[in-house]
Amino acid sequence: MANVSCPAAGENAFECAKKQLGDAIKLLGYDQNVLEVLSHPKEYLKISIPVKMDNGKTKVFLGYRVHYNDARGPCKGGIRYHPNVSIDEVKALAAWMTWKCSLVNIPYGGAKGGIVVDPKGMSQGELERLSRGYIRGMFNFIGPMKDIPAPDVYTNAQIMAWMMDEYSKLAGHYEPAVITGKPVELGGSLGRDKATGRGLVYVGRETMKYLKMNPKKTTVAIQGFGNLGTFAAQDLYKMGAKIVAVSDSKGGIYKKEGLNPAEVMKHKDKTESVINFPGAKNISNEELLQLDVDLLIPAALENVITAKNAARVKAKVILEGANGPTTPEADAILERNGVVVIPDILANAGGVTVSYFEWAQNLSGYYWTEDEVNRKMDALLTSAFNDMVKIAKQYKVSMRKGAYLIAVKRVVNAMKLKGDV
Ligand code: NAD
Repeated sequence: MANVSCPAAGENAFECAKKQLGDAIKLLGYDQNVLEVLSHPKEYLKISIPVKMDNGKTKVFLGYRVHYNDARGPCKGGIRYHPNVSIDEVKALAAWMTWKCSLVNIPYGGAKGGIVVDPKGMSQGELERLSRGYIRGMFNFIGPMKDIPAPDVYTNAQIMAWMMDEYSKLAGHYEPAVITGKPVELGGSLGRDKATGRGLVYVGRETMKYLKMNPKKTTVAIQGFGNLGTFAAQDLYKMGAKIVAVSDSKGGIYKKEGLNPAEVMKHKDKTESVINFPGAKNISNEELLQLDVDLLIPAALENVITAKNAARVKAKVILEGANGPTTPEADAILERNGVVVIPDILANAGGVTVSYFEWAQNLSGYYWTEDEVNRKMDALLTSAFNDMVKIAKQYKVSMRKGAYLIAVKRVVNAMKLKGDV
């Protein structure tokens, strides 16, 4: 199985993020000073989190939080629990959050956080102590008007609940707007759990419309069968698309006739993996990326489509569910081969869009129906998709470059108005 979370030398995620930014700055005709300023995060914090483990021993975990840019509003971004978390990965993810919030035009800057930990195998008690410890260490670095975290890989609504509770205890008052992706009972928004997958499918629907693809004749492969991958698979299945392959960290499965995502989820709940699903063939994550499908959805980690395998990608369209799954070198190869790449900063923006709605509902104390949430998300994502297509055509560039042109320009305009560049 390919180790998707461990980029080869030269594929450092932050270097990729800076390369994408540099391309946009050049196309926009900005000078090197703008690139210099935007190539650095505003600030970041590294903390040690001592956690009493169930066996009585104390273990210290490393935690990070990066504020990349706050020109357009408070910083926003998830918290990742993964053994391969590094400061450069968190910086890259925080930069991508900056462009994502700008592209869908929500009033936020970009941030990201992470803990170097393998949460699999930890008890609920250990996870709770770790999550509360992260918030104690970050208390002065986050806040509803400063930096609002959310879930990411291997974090979920329960972890957000502990974090919100810890922050509220330290603040001395109830503060639901400090974090999004909370359970509905604690001020979470209806529809937030499904938002990233559902948003991906809204963007997929617009893409299929634009490329004149019939969803009912579309074959799909999805790498990563977590929050994003499972909800996207279910919605695509409902649209009539044929999901021929899915995978998780243990490997993938392929079935030419198509998989029913609900049945695969049941199997994963029982066995902790999608592999060995009855009637399907086990494949590796690398094989999944090279399947002859219409739509490939990387929905796990960054740097999986690289200069090494891009030429072997047979999909017509890549819908980037994960953040940063395609390196700039791979992008160039895919563009040459006519593969349409719908960039992460739009394709997975449904999550942060509904996080913004959750924050707005918390601040106003007035809650919306799930239908309202979905309609408002659809409107924002569809409008960003149309803006991206228009600019990409105007500049005769890829969709990614079109998206970056819009996003970076908005951030630079805000910085100029404040006198920061
Ligand atoms: P998750 O933890 O719910 O799921 C991650 C999935 O990826 C799991 O199925 C896991 O088994 C799989 N995975 C892990 N390592 C893998 C490997 N080496 N090879 C193949 N699969 C592997 O996480 P998620 O929230 O679904 O996030 C997935 C991606 O989507 C990440 O890039 C994340 O940054 C991005 N994203 C998530 C959200 C959100 O709201 N959850 C929003 C925007 C973007």
